[in-house]
Amino acid sequence: MSEPIVSRFAPSPTGRLHLGHALSAVRAHDLARAAGGRFLVRIEDIDATRSRPEHVDAILADLAALGLGWDGPVWHQSRRLDAYAAALDQLRDAGLLYPCFCTRADIAREVAASLSAPHGPDGPVYPGTCRALPPGLRAERLARDPHSWRLDMAAAVARVGPLDWHDATAGTIRADPLGHGDVVLARKDAPASYHLAVTVDDAAQGVSDVVRGRDLFAATHVHRLLQALLGLAVPRYHHHPLIVSADGRRLAKRDGAPTLDRFRDADGRLDDLAQKLRAGRLPLGFALATA
Ligand code: GLU
Repeated sequence: MSEPIVSRFAPSPTGRLHLGHALSAVRAHDLARAAGGRFLVRIEDIDATRSRPEHVDAILADLAALGLGWDGPVWHQSRRLDAYAAALDQLRDAGLLYPCFCTRADIAREVAASLSAPHGPDGPVYPGTCRALPPGLRAERLARDPHSWRLDMAAAVARVGPLDWHDATAGTIRADPLGHGDVVLARKDAPASYHLAVTVDDAAQGVSDVVRGRDLFAATHVHRLLQALLGLAVPRYHHHPLIVSADGRRLAKRDGAPTLDRFRDADGRLDDLAQKLRAGRLPLGFALATA
């Protein structure tokens, strides 16, 4: 018998859900339910400055209105900081992390001064300034200055060798994390970064299938590497197309994408919307992106 399917929906409570989130949630839910598996909900609230409890309540109410019931307690990343600290210790002990004291302005200045600053999926790649700090200065600054922790990407990739992961649409993918540069794993203002927390938690919750938008496809290269470094199980991935508005623009909270309230029926329910999304029919004015 194959392993039971465990899927999850993992929203960040920095705003209300939009259509793209609803699509992720419906697909993750249905994938598990169709196989008699479990569907989990995890609130990704490590960013204390942007997360709001009222958004958590609204997100859970939206999921209920969509008719998506979840299994077990809802996890909150803000209650999982010890697990992230343990993973960081493991990577630090393996000699793969270094403290970074750069401010955003430092990095922008350095990138602007370089003639050929490499770009990754999320913009210019960290130029590696603090990787080369002499040990004495590093120790001195560590005791004194605010810092994040970065992964020494080249060393990490060399440590584990070639890795593959599997996407339901794209097939077997060779992990290519190098292009991300030395990613931050613990932020100055938060004890873990998205990459670390999501990887640790998917493994801790026994998630077998990660369903999420195509915008996170490139991040999976980093997650696959972290799984190898931390000795974690590797889920299957299902990156679905993004929903765009009629003018082709991506839905984003910060650009005022409509919340799900716009799609409620007279009883405040969202079951019709969920059915539409299942059938691949989008509300008027929205479409699935082709790329
Ligand atoms: N928390 C992320 C977001 O809301 C999604 C994380 C994931 O599905 O891996 O964009």
